[in-house]
Amino acid sequence: MNRILEIVYFSKASKHPVLMLRNFEYRIERTTPTKTRWSCKMKEKIRCKSRLVTTGSTIYISNFEHNHTETFVGTSEKLHSQDVKFL
Ligand SMILES: [Zn+2]
Repeated sequence: MNRILEIVYFSKASKHPVLMLRNFEYRIERTTPTKTRWSCKMKEKIRCKSRLVTTGSTIYISNFEHNHTETFVGTSEKLHSQDVKFL
């Protein structure tokens, strides 16, 4: 019954959107007119190197190796979900 959401955006963080993928959270690192680069929220704290790039609804996972466990705890009920394609 539980559907696994591959990607969700926090709605409350319009100023600082957060992307969640497989219970890991990402913050925007840089945006260009066509792409958004996301880095793991643990990047500053413990130098996690996981990164994603999104273009529209397509995600390119440039690095999904985290040096820590999942960062998202809670329910995804209040989150916006979006279907995405993976490159
Ligand atoms: Zn990480």
